[in-house]
Amino acid sequence: MECIFCKIIKKEIAADIVFENGKVLAFKDINPIAPVHILIVPKVHIPSVDHLGKKDGSLVSELILSAQKIAREQKIDKSGYRLIFNMGKDAGQTVDHLHLHLTGGKKLPWL
Ligand code: 5GP
Ligand code: ZN
Repeated sequence: MECIFCKIIKKEIAADIVFENGKVLAFKDINPIAPVHILIVPKVHIPSVDHLGKKDGSLVSELILSAQKIAREQKIDKSGYRLIFNMGKDAGQTVDHLHLHLTGGKKLPWL
């Protein structure tokens, strides 16, 4: 059984894709909490931050640098943005496929 983000990566489920390269896919969150709310996911299935190891260093950097590039394209690099990894129950992680939230386009409340 494949997860929902794996299905989006395989284009079996539609998503509003904003960026793609060999390692990552980025698409608009279906339930945005800010004017810009994009999820950046690795193309390989990794359940969460807790499952990352030293060997994943370049992939993590790819996620963050993709977020930086998308933030510039979305023109929120000057106004600012927030990058979030939710991990596990207390953080409210609902999809068990590693994803980086890029949020911005308004003044974001701190928790
Ligand atoms: P989490 O709470 O796990 O950090 O974030 C999961 C995010 O995925 C949520 O913000 C939710 O709105 C988004 N999401 C869940 N299912 C889908 C989907 O099928 N398509 C898209 N585009 N976003 C989804
Ligand atoms: Zn997956």
